[in-house]
Amino acid sequence: MPLKERLNTIEEALPSEVTLVVVSKFHSPEEIMEAYEAGVRNFGENLAQELIPKYEALPKDIHWHYIGGLQRNKVRQIISFVDLIHSVDSVRLYEEIVRRASMIPRCVDILIQVHIAQEETKGGFAQEEAKEAILALCNRTEDKPYRRIRGLMGMATLTEDSSQIKKEFSSLKKLFEEIKAHLPADEKTHFDTLSMGMSSDWELAVEEGSNLVRIGTAIMGKRRSRN
Ligand SMILES: *Cc1c(COP(=O)(O)O)cnc(C)c1O
Repeated sequence: MPLKERLNTIEEALPSEVTLVVVSKFHSPEEIMEAYEAGVRNFGENLAQELIPKYEALPKDIHWHYIGGLQRNKVRQIISFVDLIHSVDSVRLYEEIVRRASMIPRCVDILIQVHIAQEETKGGFAQEEAKEAILALCNRTEDKPYRRIRGLMGMATLTEDSSQIKKEFSSLKKLFEEIKAHLPADEKTHFDTLSMGMSSDWELAVEEGSNLVRIGTAIMGKRRSRN
């Protein structure tokens, strides 16, 4: 099936309120242009050294999502153009993002990554810590011009067991609602994004309340890396 057909099939199945981010990591600018010509404007990458040349080479109306583990020393390189950082997994990373954004200055949208999977390799705040951390960050008035905390991101366990996956997604949705309910009014209005679901589990994620899915392989095809 050509890319455009794979894309159309998924777009038709997605409810209109769910944003599709096409994960283009390890795919060439030419392959990204094929998806762009088919109408995609949201792309996700997980390495700064790959994202930067793509940003430079490709049309400027693309929205770039940073979805991978982000080292603090790479923040400076992407902060001027990245649209949404999904993978804020520590207060120190948050602080570096705010510091670099304030130097431009600009306001950067971020998501707090929460660990919901059984695998230890997947990053993020522990579920019990995420709420406290976000409420504390929302008290940092001086940061507000430079960041908007837009919501949460999580990755489910890689398993065939769909009840396990659903359980993890529904716990993240619950946490999202719980945090949102406790946010101050000025933060609540833009806390609106729940990023969960990939090629293998996006349907389950949408059922459990995701409003942003990050889909790579099922649209772009196989990657030339196991990452
Ligand atoms: C690679 C990646 C995806 C997309 O994975 P697919 O299985 O190819 O859809 C989504 N989210 C994150 C954080 C990723 O690293």
